[in-house]
Amino acid sequence: MDANHPKNKKNDNIVESCESCTFYQRTLAKSVHLSGVGVHSGKQVNLTIKPAPTNFGINFRRVDLPTSPLIKATFSRIVDTSLATVIGEAGCIVSTIEHLMASFSGLGIDNAICEIDSYEPPIMDGSAKEFTRLIQKAGIAKQAAPRMYFVIKSPLELIGEDKSVHLYPARERKITCTIKFNHPAIGEQKFSLTLSRDNFIKEISHARTFGFLQELEYMQFYGLARGGSLDNSLVIDENGVINEEGLRCPDEFVRHKILDAIGDFSLLGMPILGHIVLYKSGHNFNHEFLKMFFDQKSAWETASLDTLDLSALPETDQASELV
Ligand SMILES: [Zn+2]
Repeated sequence: MDANHPKNKKNDNIVESCESCTFYQRTLAKSVHLSGVGVHSGKQVNLTIKPAPTNFGINFRRVDLPTSPLIKATFSRIVDTSLATVIGEAGCIVSTIEHLMASFSGLGIDNAICEIDSYEPPIMDGSAKEFTRLIQKAGIAKQAAPRMYFVIKSPLELIGEDKSVHLYPARERKITCTIKFNHPAIGEQKFSLTLSRDNFIKEISHARTFGFLQELEYMQFYGLARGGSLDNSLVIDENGVINEEGLRCPDEFVRHKILDAIGDFSLLGMPILGHIVLYKSGHNFNHEFLKMFFDQKSAWETASLDTLDLSALPETDQASELV
């Protein structure tokens, strides 16, 4: 590509104009590998992440199965959201993909193949820290095709019983989340940030998943969360967090909910240019919102940055006032 061509110069200017958006698609610069325990199987899992061509998306390949089937990480392939986000196709599933998906989205990776020899990627420390490190270690390669965005034209909302998801037009990618737990260790927490690569790495990637001791015991009784331990989740009993090292930051819980939502929303296949506002939402409700979002085609359009006038979109402060 001719970097001096006027059109390409214009595109570079556009890239600079939005902290949370970039013009080109991206993949990894080389393949990388890690291994760790699967949270539900309790078994050692190998994960290799490979670069992929433009417009390929994020795909999982089950190399432990005879035909090594490929499953696209997209919301139409979601088969379960009760404990984690599970995708599946033709009887083959990949479970607990949300933290790895959050790393791809947070670092701005559009295309990759994730090869695993089990039905779930390794859980690592229960956050996206190790996946994020791994992708950074591989390096991020710019590709010769524009990234498409869902550009929000009018507000969308899904209101449930004591929970909601709102989506507002905005000239940047932003997410705000509020959680409320009737437990003194958590209480009410709110966090908001612009979805830039730096913000994801510094503010979100290290926030660990959390659960209550009773739930963990219950799941393990039924053969789930066999690999679940204090090494890969924050565990809370009636007195507070029982992990010896404590919290990584006082609001680690709400930051993890944002991490989960980044992973869930990335299953749309293209990033949202807009402000996502979550109130007590989780995987299940996020998925309900994604389905509604797809049906409300008048509320959004798809566009690359070179066709957009960002200054015509509202600043996010306006929407933030509403929550
Ligand atoms: Zn999570």
